[in-house]
Amino acid sequence: AKKSGRNNYQFFRKELNAEVVERFSLERDISRALDRNEFILYYQPKIDLRSMGIVGAEALIRWNHPERGMVSPAKFIPIAEESGQIVGINRWVVKTAIEQWQKWISTGHVPGTVAVNMSGYQFAQQKVMNTVAEALELSGLDPEFLEIEITENILMQNISEAAAVLQQLKNMRVRIGIDDFGTGYSSLSYISSFKVDTIKIDRSFVMGCIEKPDNLVIIKTIIAMGQSLGIKVVAEGVETAEQLELIRQHGADMAQGYYFSKPVPPEEYIRLLDKKLY
Ligand code: C2E
Ligand code: CA
Ligand code: CA
Ligand code: CA
Repeated sequence: AKKSGRNNYQFFRKELNAEVVERFSLERDISRALDRNEFILYYQPKIDLRSMGIVGAEALIRWNHPERGMVSPAKFIPIAEESGQIVGINRWVVKTAIEQWQKWISTGHVPGTVAVNMSGYQFAQQKVMNTVAEALELSGLDPEFLEIEITENILMQNISEAAAVLQQLKNMRVRIGIDDFGTGYSSLSYISSFKVDTIKIDRSFVMGCIEKPDNLVIIKTIIAMGQSLGIKVVAEGVETAEQLELIRQHGADMAQGYYFSKPVPPEEYIRLLDKKLY
């Protein structure tokens, strides 16, 4: 028993080592990725449920790693958050999205708004404000085209700091969206005091809304709350016509999901816009 115990331990240690090595190698590669232009922003259309037209997009980062191929943000963003590299990534994301939007608008397209994801580590710092302000000024983009998405949990981690940053964004006329809504523990009063423009119902609720009555109750509650506070409600992760029908019936304002389109490269987004598919 003693012997196998030690083998287990060694096995376990080996696994742990492999994980540490993997993280370390990704962390090293992230720092080169910005200089080597390995990141690209994809855009997922956001559909207005009244007009059924595209009213904007969410920018989602993609990493084309030279050896690994596409690495999911779900894998490298948490590593970058822990190492602090997220500061540089967020700066790149904000700049790239703003420049893209300004370019499209100045060439006669109507791309709607662009929402970018801001991770908490950076969000808690003044730096993000400087980045946003600088990029807006350099590009000349009207701030109302830009939305900053932060997760409910980040917001609740440091309420006073988050409130100060959100107020500054508001002062700049940048829109504020709360992501992953319903998965955290924010209270109604906080959300209303933050003066957010949109809340996004987390995909996990939309996914099971047909089968699980509880999910539907949550969706209905969030939509009712949004309506009474004058906050627009977006449903994410809409994959089927049934899900779309349900969230429309209950009064959601906008939707995103594979039913309409996956996140697509910039040239594809502009094609979708001009085709007015939905
Ligand atoms: P998120 O902000 O909640 O983004 C939504 C995720 O759901 C995206 O995954 C999107 O591709 C996916 N999705 C959209 N519609 C559907 C659908 O109908 N069905 C399903 N199954 N999935 C759908 P993605 O692009 O892999 O991003 C994962 C997470 O990584 C994001 O979650 C966000 O937290 C983070 N992330 C992505 N891009 C950025 C970025 O530029 N900066 C930061 N800080 N985080 C990012
Ligand atoms: Ca998001
Ligand atoms: Ca989300
Ligand atoms: Ca999420």
